[in-house]
Amino acid sequence: MVEDLIGSRRGLLFILSSPSGAGKSTISRSLLADEPNLTFSVSATTRAPRPNEQDGREYFFKTRAEFEAMIEAGELLEHAEVFGNLYGTPISPVEAAIANGQDVLFDIDWQGGQQIANSTLQDAVVSVFILPPSLAELEKRLKSRAQDSDDIIAGRMAKSMGEINHWSEYDYVLVNRDLDECAAEVTDILQAERLRRRRRPGLVEFVQKLNREFEGSTS
Ligand code: 5GP
Repeated sequence: MVEDLIGSRRGLLFILSSPSGAGKSTISRSLLADEPNLTFSVSATTRAPRPNEQDGREYFFKTRAEFEAMIEAGELLEHAEVFGNLYGTPISPVEAAIANGQDVLFDIDWQGGQQIANSTLQDAVVSVFILPPSLAELEKRLKSRAQDSDDIIAGRMAKSMGEINHWSEYDYVLVNRDLDECAAEVTDILQAERLRRRRRPGLVEFVQKLNREFEGSTS
């Protein structure tokens, strides 16, 4: 395969943001299931686990004191307060993954996306924002989850527009009218970004080899 000849590349940081309920988690899951070279960045959070969430799988669940100690120790690539809870991205798994050529998927809000886009890893960042098809649909999706109280849902609806208004800071913006179609678009973005010239350091050597072969064939 040509890819094998072209050599390894540094992984990319694939940021997916959207207001809660726009389908981001479902799209993340389908992407992770289909893409063996993509790992999920498990965030730390001070919010309580929801039913079916496991420590270390969806999140690392921390007390506020534990979370603040992580900030103090410089263990987080970014952190932000979202809906009254702290969320943050542990840095060391991200660095290890991209050094190994693994891409990393982030399900984080606009504040985290902005911090990573301005970090020392900014060259590796690709960001995608997912919009709901309408506010009514967003509300319907939030209600059908039934995992949070009405108060929390109302609070999230109120904040959704705030999140949505950051759409223009992202590289790609998709409208999730159909989950499968939107997931396919996200996959296409990932594939195209992997093929960017600047992410393929082995190309220089590959083309030099083509030149050597050409010179050999004409001498
Ligand atoms: P939830 O509590 O519904 O899982 O997530 C609430 C919001 O926090 C979502 O918009 C989610 O993307 C965001 N979030 C999750 N992890 C992180 C993180 O590590 N950093 C930041 N900035 N936001 C996060």
